[in-house]
Amino acid sequence: MSRLINRSDLAFLTEHPFLPRRLPHRGLDPGHNGCVSVTDRYAPSPTAQLHLGNLRTALAGWLLTRRSGGRWLMRVEDLDEARVRAAEGVAEQQLEDLRGLGLDWDGDVVWQSQRLEAYATAVAALSGRTYECFCTRREIAEASSAPHDDGHRPYPGTCARLSSAEAARRREDRPAAIRVRAEGAAFTVTDLQLGEVTGLVDDFVLVRGDGAYSYNLAVTVDDLAQGVTQVTRGADLLSSSPRQAWLATQLGGTPPRYAHVGLVTNPDGARLAKRDGSVTLADLAERRWDSRRVLSALTASLGLGPQETTTAALEAMPEDGLPPAGGAFWLGAVWDDTEGVLRGQ
Ligand SMILES: [Zn+2]
Repeated sequence: MSRLINRSDLAFLTEHPFLPRRLPHRGLDPGHNGCVSVTDRYAPSPTAQLHLGNLRTALAGWLLTRRSGGRWLMRVEDLDEARVRAAEGVAEQQLEDLRGLGLDWDGDVVWQSQRLEAYATAVAALSGRTYECFCTRREIAEASSAPHDDGHRPYPGTCARLSSAEAARRREDRPAAIRVRAEGAAFTVTDLQLGEVTGLVDDFVLVRGDGAYSYNLAVTVDDLAQGVTQVTRGADLLSSSPRQAWLATQLGGTPPRYAHVGLVTNPDGARLAKRDGSVTLADLAERRWDSRRVLSALTASLGLGPQETTTAALEAMPEDGLPPAGGAFWLGAVWDDTEGVLRGQ
């Protein structure tokens, strides 16, 4: 049964952080030794240090992938030039943190900033199905419904039928964004925990008014190019999955399956953030939390018990995936032990 995404889906993910009982095998090619051939990726944005929530998602993806003998790729999503420039050295530190936890990846790191030609090619391929949009943020906010959980505002189609004369006039005022014509499509994705999830696809942006390629476009193009069959990522991105999966089909590809991982929260139930205290590996190291201790906390939060190495964590994995973690997210299990650390004082 398909159904529409709503907020209660995300609440469910937060309370019961992903953890499928079984790895569904349909739609994937068997590998040479009978194993399912999975290719997953981790794709950090190098604008801030990874915090425990990010690291937990990375670990979950690595475990799910390695457990099935699959490939785990690394992609740095550095398209937001200004924010990346303001965070010099962060990308390298993120990779170092992942390595430090024992999360190794296959092949070279892919940098989105070096893939602009591929994005341009994809936009050109879609050119019969795109249109220019001159709306300001405010105009869209006023004309559309409430934003989704990932902050995306469904576009109401204001510019979908502008005459060429009107478009020419508007172009003098401000540069156009390029939107894809989705014709009100609904698209269903498969999530390892949630099963089939259906979302409406709006006429979302492919190229922003400032010329930058959108997150939705770049992610979809890269996942297709890298042969990604499984996307493990934070539950905050669930509502963008039908959009990206739909775009994959428009580009002639097969969408991946998803594993949306529950977000780590602070005690108030809000998503973990820097202001919650010592939440990065560097912060924790100052408090004598070495990588083994961090890894133990993270594996415990995934229902695998405290494991000090990724090898031990892999061995603790049940045959059919990760066990249900249950309980209230990661901090529910280890909060008592870490409260002082996470609070920063
Ligand atoms: Zn518009």
